[in-house]
Amino acid sequence: MQHLLKNFALTIVKWQRTHGRNTLPWQNTQDPYLVWLSEIMLQQTQVSTVLSYYEKFLQRFPTVFDLAAASIDDVLALWSGLGYYSRASNLHRCAQAVVQEFGGQFPRSAQQLQTLPGIGQSTAAAIAAFCFNERVAILDGNVKRVLTRVLAFGGDLAQAASVRQLWSQASDLLPQRAQDMPSYTQGLMDLGASTCAQRQPLCQQCPVQTMCQAHAADQATSYPVRTRKLKRSAQKLWLLWARRADGAVWLERRPTPGVWGGLYCFPVFEQMPELSASLPAALSSKCQEQSAFLHVLTHKDLYLTPVLLNISGKQADQKLTDQGAWFEPAVWGDLGMPAPIRKCLGAQAAIQ
Ligand code: SF4
Repeated sequence: MQHLLKNFALTIVKWQRTHGRNTLPWQNTQDPYLVWLSEIMLQQTQVSTVLSYYEKFLQRFPTVFDLAAASIDDVLALWSGLGYYSRASNLHRCAQAVVQEFGGQFPRSAQQLQTLPGIGQSTAAAIAAFCFNERVAILDGNVKRVLTRVLAFGGDLAQAASVRQLWSQASDLLPQRAQDMPSYTQGLMDLGASTCAQRQPLCQQCPVQTMCQAHAADQATSYPVRTRKLKRSAQKLWLLWARRADGAVWLERRPTPGVWGGLYCFPVFEQMPELSASLPAALSSKCQEQSAFLHVLTHKDLYLTPVLLNISGKQADQKLTDQGAWFEPAVWGDLGMPAPIRKCLGAQAAIQ
């Protein structure tokens, strides 16, 4: 097998330089702050979505010192809409650790990078390869797909032992020359994101087609093997959308960890009677249930029912729940909020 793969790394490097992505804003730099920021944003999120967020973040926080000194509220507000909010709080904690523990300089090895919040093995390897030319293998979802196919690796990736084995084989495939590491790493990512697609790989256009054992056996889509599928669940939630005549709404900060942790949200209830019981009788009788809508999280479908409560007169000054406060429209833009709450507030703003 190894003789077949002898030219694998060099083929990927050559292909990346001519056919890969070379003009993204976080490429052509070896600044670890820029590379780290992009790697965290790109986890579970498409390049087209990340582009505008990346630009906004860098305008606001041009250096790791700026990010470390920011409040978590400012970070979450800028992150609003990107989802997976634990990434944003880890990003903030990581910036603070880089400043406090490393004097503002990112550590230069994948091993040390992994000690920082939110940086896993593959992200650490990507930063070390891109910025410091370290010969270390990445293994994100796209790269797993390419390598399991090229190697016809039949181990079950739901098992940690198989992942370790694949990681070891990925290390065997690395280019000999350290300076090829950035193009090689980017090349594998690009190949997985484009040509070696999950359902219909474009094998005829693939630079490593002649080395790919899955293609030779006409079995490309049988890889990677993963027996344990993530189970999706569904949950119904009721959102208390209380608003005053001046447009202010009642928002609570969500607990962390948990869904939407750290973000500002309408009070959330698992049952409508629970929502009614949380309010004085004079108010609960004014609640109006709106149509439920679906909000999809990674492993869960949320069916959200906004419950509108218009509040006026003396009641407009009272506390609605133990946690939270009234927030006027002028400050909404500065708050980190889950996408469905922004959606409700967008609808409210449109009719005000
Ligand atoms: Fe993927 Fe096909 Fe290339 Fe093999 S030949 S790596 S299956 S695109």
